[in-house]
Amino acid sequence: MKEKIYTIPVNDAFDSGSECPICSMYWALENDAVEYAMGPSYMEDDIRAQTDELGFCEKHILQVYGEENRLGFALVMKTHIDRVISEIEKRASQPVKGKTLFGKVTPSTVSEYAGNLKTSCFVCRRIENTFQRYLDTILHLYKQDESFRQKYANCKGFCTSHYGMLMQLAPQKLSGAALDEFTALTSRLYLENMKRVRDDIEWFINKFDYKYANEPWKNAKDALQRSIVKVQSVDADAK
Ligand SMILES: [Zn+2]
Ligand SMILES: [Zn+2]
Repeated sequence: MKEKIYTIPVNDAFDSGSECPICSMYWALENDAVEYAMGPSYMEDDIRAQTDELGFCEKHILQVYGEENRLGFALVMKTHIDRVISEIEKRASQPVKGKTLFGKVTPSTVSEYAGNLKTSCFVCRRIENTFQRYLDTILHLYKQDESFRQKYANCKGFCTSHYGMLMQLAPQKLSGAALDEFTALTSRLYLENMKRVRDDIEWFINKFDYKYANEPWKNAKDALQRSIVKVQSVDADAK
């Protein structure tokens, strides 16, 4: 069944006990895409054309570099920089536009290109489609599958960004009572679990006070790493 490509990773993420199952799905896609960028694929012309054009965002350029394929990274950077030089040369000769008749300042094509290139990314682009399908699948399973609904209701909530995405997507996929139930449950899961992590951090702080020195750590030991997931969707333990 073709849809298992999506339902299996979604179920696995909700089984993982992660502070945000959606982050877990994203990280798995991210790892695959980063490895792919430095795997044999960079020698393929069509892939190389994409890395030449898009480059990598601030986050992913360091992850791709971290794959420690020095020659691969050098080859990819060389032809990407060739491309950037030729795109800038094309644009740099054009006049820098100033204010229009209406007083609006329009950016020059050079600054527009440079601004877009800063966030354009081969890894982000490669993740994008599958990640969107994963999000759709969460809503689809919630609608169709009672055992997934239970799994969803027992997860440890979400990071702020992915909570926002779920709330935005819900009205496109659900309606009526199911929509109300889903959004109420999702908000409750987000808030209850955010408070749980906040309380773990509070206990972590207490442990620096001599009065609490002999108290157990409870769930506070890895509270900082878990707070980073909740707040900024980042895996602090990633390589
Ligand atoms: Zn997340
Ligand atoms: Zn990226």
